Amino acid sequence: MLDETINKLEEKLKVGGNELKGAHETMRNLGKQIADKELKVSTLEGDLRIEREWRQSLQESDVKDKEEICKLNMEIQKLRLLKNDLETARLENQDLHRICREQEEALAEMGAKYREKVLREDGLREANATVSSYVWKDSRECTHCKECTLEFTLTRRKHHCRNCGDVFCQRCSDNLMELPSHAKPVRVCDPCFSALLQRCNNTTTPQATLTTSDLPGSQSSLQTPTDTTSISS
Ligand SMILES: [Zn+2]
Ligand SMILES: [Zn+2]
Repeated sequence: MLDETINKLEEKLKVGGNELKGAHETMRNLGKQIADKELKVSTLEGDLRIEREWRQSLQESDVKDKEEICKLNMEIQKLRLLKNDLETARLENQDLHRICREQEEALAEMGAKYREKVLREDGLREANATVSSYVWKDSRECTHCKECTLEFTLTRRKHHCRNCGDVFCQRCSDNLMELPSHAKPVRVCDPCFSALLQRCNNTTTPQATLTTSDLPGSQSSLQTPTDTTSISS
């Protein structure tokens, strides 16, 4: 009876020992699993920290980007305004160019008119110079024609040139010309006639106008009172 009980107890003890061994095994396994999990947790925590830092930096850069975008938008706005200004300036420039061109044309026109006026004034000045060199010779002192040097006689009478004022024979002064100093065409000597003719041809607006070169039978009409008084012997 006792042996049987002892056997039973031994059996139970054996079972209990086995169970304990199993429990130990399980406990070791669990410990290992816990260690594994803890390792994983710490790895995940590291990852999470990195992730957080990354997100933080992303947020920071996002803020910076937004600021940059804001600045760029402002720049774009400024550039648009500048573009408008440029367009306005371009139009103004076009207007100015047009005005400049018009003024240049007007200036060229004025220049042409001015040149014409200067030429006219030059002609007038030359004519005046011709008149100013005029010295009325006393016919009593003149015995010979200034041009052909023939002596004056009763038939070869003395005539004053109305341009130079010198004394010539009829043959050397048979020209009629309009002079600025006279209202009607007057007698001029051959040298004056050639000179005035040359000036007439050179000037676009002649001051002296030719009428006739020959004076047939007009001798008396050309003579001034001083001419008639001086007939050489
Ligand atoms: Zn003469
Ligand atoms: Zn003359």
